Amino acid sequence: MKEICKDVAIIGGGAAGMMCAIEAGKRCRSVLVIDHAFKLAEKIRISGGGRCNFTNRHTTAENFLSNNPHFCRSALARFTPQDFIALIEKHGIRYHEKKFGQLFCNDSSQQIINMLQRECADAKVDWQMPSRIKQVENSPAVAEVANAAGRRFILTTERNIVIAESLVIATGGLSIPQIGASAFGYQIANQFGIPVTTLRPGLVGLTFATEDFHGFKGIPGVSLDAEVSCGGATFRENILFTHRGLSGPAILQISSYWQPGEALHINLLPQQDAQKILFTYRQSGMELSTVMTRYLPKRFVQAWCGVIFAQLGLVIKPVNQYRDVELRQIATALHDWQITPSGTVGYKKAEVTLGGIDTRELSSRTMESRSVPGLYFIGEVVDVTGQLGGFNFQWAWSSGYVAGQFV
Ligand SMILES: Cc1cc2nc3c(=O)[nH]c(=O)nc-3n(C[C@H](O)[C@H](O)[C@H](O)COP(=O)(O)OP(=O)(O)OC[C@H]3O[C@@H](n4cnc5c(N)ncnc54)[C@H](O)[C@@H]3O)c2cc1C
Repeated sequence: MKEICKDVAIIGGGAAGMMCAIEAGKRCRSVLVIDHAFKLAEKIRISGGGRCNFTNRHTTAENFLSNNPHFCRSALARFTPQDFIALIEKHGIRYHEKKFGQLFCNDSSQQIINMLQRECADAKVDWQMPSRIKQVENSPAVAEVANAAGRRFILTTERNIVIAESLVIATGGLSIPQIGASAFGYQIANQFGIPVTTLRPGLVGLTFATEDFHGFKGIPGVSLDAEVSCGGATFRENILFTHRGLSGPAILQISSYWQPGEALHINLLPQQDAQKILFTYRQSGMELSTVMTRYLPKRFVQAWCGVIFAQLGLVIKPVNQYRDVELRQIATALHDWQITPSGTVGYKKAEVTLGGIDTRELSSRTMESRSVPGLYFIGEVVDVTGQLGGFNFQWAWSSGYVAGQFV
């Protein structure tokens, strides 16, 4: 089989892989990106509803989940949201800010892919895709290709043999296998004895047992502003009822903090005082559910009252027929509706994978493995996961950038 020698081989040509390739190429390193997908950077294309939420102006380490919350600081400080904004402005891509510092393309996420491709071409990056890797070896160098440790990586692909000084794993997480996600990065870690933390879907819809959710089955599509808390985190955004459970930005956010068996605490009236509202109507002959529809969607009120009133042993009747203690109970339930998910909708729908390559094994300055010199892990495959809002791409850019300075 034909042999190719490169300074750097990058497996995975997504957001992090391309950023690393560009930076390494600018340093005049010969770079080959290998990807098994037919179409380049599908995750960027489908991201942000087709407009790619490419960064967040307010990015800090607090926006990320990891067993080591400090690990991401160094990379985020060396390639910031402003650095990525400068790159897209250089390419004339128009963008806008939605809420909470989230930046989106005005036109299409394809513009980001085109920009990265152009930068790769300028940096003389070579591509091999679609191409499947059959084997990765790390052996003592006998020829001119050798890294500082005197070793080299030998990749056997279905087309050729690639020999490289540095090997970068940028294969992302497990979410959306339909467009090329694979466990390859974790398998390479296992092969080299590098620990991987527990993996689970994140930024994902939550499901509920039939008996807990039966009353809400009839309201898919209903959405409302709520404050959702779990696992020490709280998010205030919309929640959305689906056929299978709950979704919407507040649920996606909290899903990353939720552990099986834990209840969600949902404040349905985050800006109101439910007790004050109910007591205002205490003398009124108006049905309590009618009062609630002044503050919450009607279909939701009907479903919620059906479920919660049964739990509280109450019936729906005019407000003036409740005892004060009952009105207080209802107010408490409105501010702290507790419901326990049975699971998530899984990797097929999740935006990210929580967990990954154990950061204790990586240098936060270079992303290089401490035990296998010349082996780097970047992007989502690492145990650094952003909240919803452009943080995951910023991690891909930042970690790819820093590795690109050292490979
Ligand atoms: C629907 C959806 C919407 C999203 N929207 C946003 C958003 O708006 N903003 C945001 O910040 N984040 C968003 N994300 C998350 C974001 O897309 C990822 O965190 C980011 O793409 C990770 O970059 P990466 O380079 O590490 O991995 P990826 O972009 O997933 O790239 C990995 C690459 O590796 C390749 N690969 C995998 N296995 C192999 C293998 N065995 N051999 C060769 N190649 C392989 C894949 O084909 C792919 O090209 C979204 C995710 C999803 C699923």
